[in-house]
Amino acid sequence: MNPGIEEVLLAEPRGFCAGVDRAIEIVERAIAKFGAPIYVRHEIVHNTYVVNELKAKGAIFIEDLADVPAGATLVFSAHGVSKAVQQEARDRGFDIFDATCPLVTKVHVEVAKLAKEGYEFIMIGHKGHPEVEGTMGQLTSGIHLVEDVADVADVSPAQTEKLAVVTQTTLSVDDAAEIAAAVRARFPKVREPKQQDICYATQNRQDAVKIMSPQVDIVIVVGSPTSSNSNRLRELAQRLGTESYMVDSADELKPEWFEGKGRVGLTAGASAPEVLVREVIDRVRAFGAVSVRKMDGIEETIKFPLPKGLKLDDIPPPGHIS
Ligand code: SF4
Repeated sequence: MNPGIEEVLLAEPRGFCAGVDRAIEIVERAIAKFGAPIYVRHEIVHNTYVVNELKAKGAIFIEDLADVPAGATLVFSAHGVSKAVQQEARDRGFDIFDATCPLVTKVHVEVAKLAKEGYEFIMIGHKGHPEVEGTMGQLTSGIHLVEDVADVADVSPAQTEKLAVVTQTTLSVDDAAEIAAAVRARFPKVREPKQQDICYATQNRQDAVKIMSPQVDIVIVVGSPTSSNSNRLRELAQRLGTESYMVDSADELKPEWFEGKGRVGLTAGASAPEVLVREVIDRVRAFGAVSVRKMDGIEETIKFPLPKGLKLDDIPPPGHIS
């Protein structure tokens, strides 16, 4: 019990975005329509709770398509896949549902279109992240990854007349702007997207943390270690000078973090369900928090359509995770 905690401030918006909601619903509806098991390439979204819930409902998560039996139904995760993975899945004859977030697909489409016009690309993103592998894998060559400003000096495109920038959708808005400026300084003719590839959900959650951080003594981010946008939220709060921690579940909260803290800021990455936020609130109340207040913020109303074949009204989303 920590009598010092007066209030929990809830960031708005937080948690599930439209792409995550759609990806989870695709798996749930596929299980309802075709029966278990349904195979999912990579974690459908980077959240331990979501993955375990879907496993319990009959999803099997794999990384290698060789582990999927012939005739199976396969779902691609929200992060998107390379052309090579798409082709392999088709060659193996799976029934495929693509849960790639439409905002990631938009980047893939842009890359394909500009590549046909002779462009090479500089991709700003994190090496090894499945979204980066999927986007870079739209081409077999001519796409160069930069992770930070230092990398910009080392990148060596074959030509600089037709060069375009693309970014991972879940980056730090501020870091991406700094790296893009370094790219622009080195390659003044570089083409940049009209609108940043960083998605609305990433932008809105970071904006909310910027407003919340100065008002609190500690920030808790609900998110899994693999979640890019959740990590960026924790880093952002820390950079703004507020002690911050990311937790996968309420069990990971440590009472000593809250000693001497009057106000606790709470947010959640785009792949973290609200049920986990509720559990964190309950735990912080048990530590002594007196009240919970939702901050004002943007109301997100975006919803992405489901793929053909899973839209039927007669397939209810059974116990949709939220
Ligand atoms: S975080 Fe952005 S890009 Fe990723 S699934 Fe959500 S809306 Fe799509």
